[in-house]
Amino acid sequence: MELGDGGAASRPRVDKEVDFANYFCTYGYLYHQKEMLSDRVRMDAYYNAVFDNAAVHIRDKVVLDVGTGSGILAIWCAQAGARKVYAVEATKMSDHARELVKANDVSDIVEVIHGSMEDVVLPEKVDVIISEWMGYFLLRESMFDSVICARDRWLKPDGMMYPSHARMWVAPIRSGLGEQKKNDFNSAMADWHSFVDETQAHYGVNMGVLEKPFHEEHEKYFLQTSLWNNVHPDQIVGSAALIKEIDCLTASVEEIRTVHAEFSSKIGADRTLVSGFAGWFDVHFRGNSKNPATRDVELTTAPSAEDCTHWGQQVFLLHPPIRANAGDVVGVRFVMSRAKQYHRLMDVEITTTVRTSGGKSLQPRSSKFFIE
Ligand code: SAH
Repeated sequence: MELGDGGAASRPRVDKEVDFANYFCTYGYLYHQKEMLSDRVRMDAYYNAVFDNAAVHIRDKVVLDVGTGSGILAIWCAQAGARKVYAVEATKMSDHARELVKANDVSDIVEVIHGSMEDVVLPEKVDVIISEWMGYFLLRESMFDSVICARDRWLKPDGMMYPSHARMWVAPIRSGLGEQKKNDFNSAMADWHSFVDETQAHYGVNMGVLEKPFHEEHEKYFLQTSLWNNVHPDQIVGSAALIKEIDCLTASVEEIRTVHAEFSSKIGADRTLVSGFAGWFDVHFRGNSKNPATRDVELTTAPSAEDCTHWGQQVFLLHPPIRANAGDVVGVRFVMSRAKQYHRLMDVEITTTVRTSGGKSLQPRSSKFFIE
């Protein structure tokens, strides 16, 4: 893979084959598309956004679906009265999309195009760009780059984005996962020590010199990798902070390349452990200022007792956890940037400072994470 300055759009250049092997390949499987198609929160939001605003946004319009996958969003747009829908898909899922389009009698409206959005040439500009581009904690996968590229090339000046806005949130949580991961790490290290002893006894070679890299490797795996989790709202122990707002009509790649936020969260519960932080996102379908939505639909992936999504939340665990009381304030500096090795994965650094309700300040602590 080659990383560098990608010129006008200043996107890092990534070898296409590497990107296909690491990223696109899973989208070529129906089981993966089915997982997304079975996510009721996701499906209901897009369905309601398209059909409840059909009269003002979709009817007689030209629509571009970036990353059509199975073709579902393109089919809905056709059913909602679009004049034409261009449905672009990079993987061979495009064959299934074409079949589905035909079986649902919208082939005269939906044109499935197999190719990368970055390479596709359309015969006309479009009124609406619809896309489900959101990855874990919104930005993992960096697919929004492709939507930006499509927007800058193919959206009419008064066109609109579906969704139109996105936001990222972070809140302190308590979770049993912290202790579990620490125990897993300790077991892996205990096992390493037995392995070193046994290898010396049976095979006469001392492996001890490799302890440090083994420790580092496992620390990264068990303690510094964020986790997918369905957090229950009761696990949230302090106020949630809005750390990023994106206007999909105007955002640039530069704007989403890093997320940098500083915020304070007031702890609500007494004698609690802050095990770490949960991150999630929401998106809205508001149309644009000239042509606002008749119904502002929200798709949220916030912790919920009832409505879980396939995105869940990303959990960043602190080792050791912070002991806190009601009224204590946790100051957080949150920095997320693209992983150097691969632009679709993320590095996160979280620095916490605690100010107790009694006015005492504790030493700042910094933790690094990898969203894989
Ligand atoms: N729109 C579908 C699928 C969403 S998943 C749905 O809502 O169910 C995202 C899809 O976008 C995947 O199928 C992926 O292969 C495709 N994709 C991602 N980046 C792309 C790009 N640059 N060009 C074309 N397709 C892309």
